[in-house]
Amino acid sequence: MTSCIFCQIVSGDAQASIVYEDDLVMAFMDINQPNPYKTLVIPRPHRETIYDLDDELAAALFRATVKIARAIRAASGCDGLNIIQSNGPAAQQDVFHFHLHLLPRFRDDNIILRWDFAQSDRATLDRFASDIRNHLT
Ligand SMILES: [Zn+2]
Repeated sequence: MTSCIFCQIVSGDAQASIVYEDDLVMAFMDINQPNPYKTLVIPRPHRETIYDLDDELAAALFRATVKIARAIRAASGCDGLNIIQSNGPAAQQDVFHFHLHLLPRFRDDNIILRWDFAQSDRATLDRFASDIRNHLT
């Protein structure tokens, strides 16, 4: 089995609360929910960095990201959405599979991340994922 946790989610070997999937892209709830409905979007094929995406994959990722962003807004009532790409050793992360963080921001937030968060349980993540899926158009 691959050691990449995101590839394990793509293959179904690791559990995740799935928000969206098509032939090239997958989205699922981040275990860490500093702001509710924080979602990860990834290419299905393993690509380490943004520089490794070909044009087709890049277009598919952004198309899906826009669709999911609208659904997050509809589901959560967020007032804004930060999209963050940070991966690789320079970001001090340990998953080297390109991913976008879709991070809802609410009116009272004057910072990007609330830091008083804990890892969410599966039932909470499943509920967030279901809310977003119900708003996909
Ligand atoms: Zn991977």
